[in-house]
Amino acid sequence: MQIHISNIPEGGLNLRFSKSGEWFHRSLPMGDDCGLHVQKVDVHCLVEKVLKNVSIKGRIGAEGGLECCRCLERFDFSVDIDFKYVLIPDEELDENELELTHEDMEYDHYKGDVIDLGQLVAEQIILEVPIKPLCNDSCGGLCPACGINLNREKCDHKAQQESSPFAALKNFKMKKER
Ligand SMILES: [Zn+2]
Ligand SMILES: [Zn+2]
Repeated sequence: MQIHISNIPEGGLNLRFSKSGEWFHRSLPMGDDCGLHVQKVDVHCLVEKVLKNVSIKGRIGAEGGLECCRCLERFDFSVDIDFKYVLIPDEELDENELELTHEDMEYDHYKGDVIDLGQLVAEQIILEVPIKPLCNDSCGGLCPACGINLNREKCDHKAQQESSPFAALKNFKMKKER
């Protein structure tokens, strides 16, 4: 999904589109989906030219699934975010500014006349993926001893998973003394 900057009319370009999960995965700049499987993407945005810069603001919705980092089960994950992006022409940036743009994801630069909107949208969605995805904050995870899903079943290894390695150590000592 490419936008030609020279074609952006005065008053802006109002875009509304829905895309498939396949489109999302294809649009990912580095191909890294962070474990996110997207089924559907909805975008509504306004693309405007402000002097030499291009401002894109709107809303992104996405439906998909993630794998829980504790129990490894797939769970529904959806994104509904407002986003704003300002693209600055490449020649306007010096080294210092380039560093800044890396820290502030709302700014980026463009080269030539074309902006890849798909890539920007995919990036925004990926930014929403938690580093440690959880199906539920209180997910019990898998028992490290027998591997059963503790959200659904119980086992006798409970003491060992409790909090710190010291708890396990204490437990171990108590067993020995008996
Ligand atoms: Zn879980
Ligand atoms: Zn167990």
